Amino acid sequence: MLLAFGAAAQAPHPAQALITRAIAASRVNPEDGRRLAEQALERARAEPDADLELRALLVLCEHYAEREHTTAQALLARASALLPRAKRGSLRAGMLSCEGEIQEALGENAKALATYERAVSVAEAEGDEEMLANAAYLRGWLRGVLGDYALGLIDLRRAMALYEKLALPEHARTAVNGIATVYNRMGDYAQAQHYYEQTLKAQLAAGTQREAIVTLYNIGRTRENLRQWDGARNDFATALEMSRRLGYARGEAYALRGLASVDNAQGNARLALQRLEEAQRLHARLPDARLRAQIELQRGIALRLLKRYGESVAALNNALAVFRGADSLAELSATHAALADTYAEMGDWRAAYDHQRRLKEGADRLHARQIDQRVASLKVEFDTAAKDKENALLLREKAATEAALEQQRRAGRLQAVVIALAALLASLLAILALRHRRTSRQMRALAMTDELTGLSNRRHLLTQLAGMIEKSGAPPCALLIADLDHFKPINDAYGHLIGDEVLKAVAVALKGAVREPVLLGRLGGEEFLVVLPSSDLEAARHAGERIREAVAGIDARRWFKHRTLTISVGVTVAQPGVDTVSAALKRADEALYAAKAAGRNCVRTRDQQAPLRLAVQRGAA
Ligand code: GH3
Ligand code: MG
Ligand code: MG
Repeated sequence: MLLAFGAAAQAPHPAQALITRAIAASRVNPEDGRRLAEQALERARAEPDADLELRALLVLCEHYAEREHTTAQALLARASALLPRAKRGSLRAGMLSCEGEIQEALGENAKALATYERAVSVAEAEGDEEMLANAAYLRGWLRGVLGDYALGLIDLRRAMALYEKLALPEHARTAVNGIATVYNRMGDYAQAQHYYEQTLKAQLAAGTQREAIVTLYNIGRTRENLRQWDGARNDFATALEMSRRLGYARGEAYALRGLASVDNAQGNARLALQRLEEAQRLHARLPDARLRAQIELQRGIALRLLKRYGESVAALNNALAVFRGADSLAELSATHAALADTYAEMGDWRAAYDHQRRLKEGADRLHARQIDQRVASLKVEFDTAAKDKENALLLREKAATEAALEQQRRAGRLQAVVIALAALLASLLAILALRHRRTSRQMRALAMTDELTGLSNRRHLLTQLAGMIEKSGAPPCALLIADLDHFKPINDAYGHLIGDEVLKAVAVALKGAVREPVLLGRLGGEEFLVVLPSSDLEAARHAGERIREAVAGIDARRWFKHRTLTISVGVTVAQPGVDTVSAALKRADEALYAAKAAGRNCVRTRDQQAPLRLAVQRGAA
C-alpha cells in the first residue's frame, strides 16, 4: 500500500505533458496549441494542481492576447485568483507578460513596456529563467518597435541565451528572429535577411509552421524595404497560402497587407484595395492595432494612386494616430511620407511641407538611434558570435560531408576490389575448369593409349573388343595379331632404345597399311592387334598381307645393316553374339603361331569352325 502510494505521488501529473505539448503545438498550428491547453486546464482542475492550472491559463492567455482580448483578460483574472495557491510564485511574471501582450495588441505600447518591465523584475527576483526569457523577449521586441534598438538587442540576446540554456531551440530561433527584426528596423536589411533565412530553414525542418509563416512574412518585409518587389510578392504569397492552409487568420491578414504593398509599389492600386478589404475583414476579429494601422497606411497609398485624395488622407490619418500612440518610429515616418505625397498631389503644399518636415524629424531620430555607439558594439558582438556559430556548424557539416564522401569512396574502392577479385576468381575457376577438362581428357587418352607408339593400349583394345564381340546383332569383324619376328635379338644387339624406335616405325607402317580399322593397337611387347570391319576371312588375309608387306618395306638401314625387319600375322573372323573375346583372340594367336611355325614373315588364318589352315606363304622363301 505504502509503495503504491509512493509511486502515485511520484507519477507526473497528466496536465504537465499536455502543457508541454500545447506550447510545442502552438508553434506549428495555434489552434492545436489552444485545444491542448484547454485539455491541460481540464486535467489540472480534475486532479487539482494550482501551478499547472495557472500555466495552462497562461498558455491560453497568450493565444487569445492577439485574437480576443476580452477572453485573454478573463483568463488573466482567473489566473490572478489562482495565484495565492500556486507554489511557483514566478508564474506572476508569466501573468504580467500576458497582460503586456494584451496591451501591446491594443496599441498601448507605453503601458505594455511598463508591464514587461515588471514581468522581467519579478522573474529575476524569483530566479525563474523560463519566465525571464519570455519577459525579456517580449520587452526586447517592443523596444525594437519603439526604436530603442540597443536595449531591444540586449533583451533579445538575453532571451536567446536563456532559451539555449534551457534547451528550447525553437524559442531561441524566435529570439534570433526578433534580433533580425530590429536589424530590419535599423536599416541593415541584408543582415536581417540572413538571420531570417537561417531561421526559416530551421523552422521548416522542425515543422513549426506558424513560426515559419511569421519568418516568411518578415523576409517579405525586408525585401519590401529593399524594393525587391518580385521576391517580396513571392514570400507574402507563400505566407498567405500557408496561413490559409493552417486557418491562421492573423498570418493571412499580414500576408495580404504585404501583397497590397507590393501591388501599390507596382501601380496596381485596385488590386491592392481588394486585398486590403479582405485583410480588414479578417482583422475585424483581431485586436491587433498595429496591423490595422499598417492596413490603413497601404489603403491610404492605394487611394492616392486612384486619386481618391480625401479617402487617402482619412486612411493615413487613422494610421498616424495608431503609430503615434504606439510610438512606432519607422511606421510613423512611412505614414508622414505617404501623407506628404497625397497632399502634394492635391496641391496642398503647406500640409505636404508639414509632413515632410515631420518625416525628416523622425528620420533624424531614427538615424540618431542607429548610430548609437551601444547599438554598433552590440551588433558587432552578436554578429561575431553568430558567425562563429555558423562557422562551427559549417565545419561540422563539411566534416560530415567529407566523412560521408570518404565512406562512399571507400565503399566504391572496396566494391571495385570485390569486382576485380570476383572476376579474377571467375577466370581462375574457368582456367581450372578448362585445365581440368583438358587433363581429364588427357588422362582418359593416356589411360587408353600406348605411350611408346601412340596406338591404343591393351586395356582399351580388350574393352573395345568385348563391346563389339559380345554384343549380338553387331556385324562380324576380322582380328589380326601381328608379331615382329626375332625382335629379341634386335633389342639384345642394338639396345632397347633402338628396339623402341623399331616399334614406333612399325606402328606407323601398320597405320599406313590398314585404312579405316575398327581398332589398331599394341597388345604388348612387339605384338599388335588390328580389328577390321570384315566378315570375310579372305579379305582379312589380304589385309594381313598388306601389313606384312608394309613392315617388310620399312627401311631398317638407319638402325642395322645386316638384318631385315619382318612380321608374322595370324588372322581370324569373330562372330558377334557367338564368339567370346578370348576365343577369338585364341584363334588369332593360333594362326600367328602357325605363321611363326611356317617360317615367319607370313600370314596364316584360322576360322571359327575349321582347324588351322595353312595359307600361302609369301616372302619368306
Ligand atoms: P619370335 O620371332 O619367336 O617372336 O622371336 P622374338 O625374339 O621376337 O620373341 P620373344 O618373345 O622371344 O622376344 C620378345 C622381346 O621383345 C623380348 C623383349 O625384350 C622385347 N620387348 C618387349 N617389349 C618391348 C619394348 O617395349 N621395347 C623393346 N625395345 N623391347 C621389348
Ligand atoms: Mg616376336
Ligand atoms: Mg612376341
